Amino acid sequence: MKDYQSLIGLLNKKRFKSSFFEDSESAKAHVMELIRDCDTIGFGGSMTLNETGIFDAVINSGKQVYATVLEKQKANPDIPETWKNATFSDCFITSTNALTTQGDLVNIDANGNRVGPMFFGPKSVIVVCGVNKIVEDPMQAVARIQSTAAPKNTVRLGLATPCAVTGKCEDCSSPQRICNVVVRIQYPPRPIDIHIVLINEELGY
Ligand code: SF4
Repeated sequence: MKDYQSLIGLLNKKRFKSSFFEDSESAKAHVMELIRDCDTIGFGGSMTLNETGIFDAVINSGKQVYATVLEKQKANPDIPETWKNATFSDCFITSTNALTTQGDLVNIDANGNRVGPMFFGPKSVIVVCGVNKIVEDPMQAVARIQSTAAPKNTVRLGLATPCAVTGKCEDCSSPQRICNVVVRIQYPPRPIDIHIVLINEELGY
C-alpha cells in the first residue's frame, strides 16, 4: 500500500477528517493545532503517541490531561474516574491497531476504555497512525493485532498470557487476556469528528 493519498481521499469521503504527513514532527504540529481550543484531553494508551512526541507535547501544553499512565503515578490512583474523564473530554487522542484500505479503523481492547471513546463520549477524536498499521481488510486487521500488537503489548505490560511467552495468539481464556472487545469503525458516528492523522513512518505495533 503506497498510494496513501488515495486512502486519505477515501477516508475523507467517509467523513473522517484525514490528513497525511511525511514525518512525526509535522504530524505533531497538526495535532497541536487541532487541539488548540480544547481544554480537556483524554488519551488512549499508545506507543505511537509516545514515539511521535505527541503525548509529551500535550502534557507540556498545560491542558488538563486524563491518561491512565499518569494516574497510575499518583499515590491514590482512581483509574475508573480517569477513564470516565477521558471519555468525556473535549478531545480524545489515540492510535489504532489497524487501518484498512477500505477505510475502517479496527481495534481490540482489554477494558474498552481505549476503544469506547473512539466512537462515544468526547467532542472530537484524533487517531494517529503509522503506515505500518495499514492492512487490506478487517480479517487481516484482527490477524495483525493478534499476531503482532497483542503479544507485544502483553510483554510490555507484564501480563501472564500464552502470547507473552510464545509470541503467538492462542485465543486464550487467561484472566489477563487483553483481546476482549473488537471494534470496527466504518464511518464516524454523527456527533463526533474523527480526525485520522496518517504518518509515513513505522510507529507503534
Ligand atoms: S487472545 Fe490471549 S493469546 Fe491471543 S493475543 Fe489475545 S491475550 Fe494473547
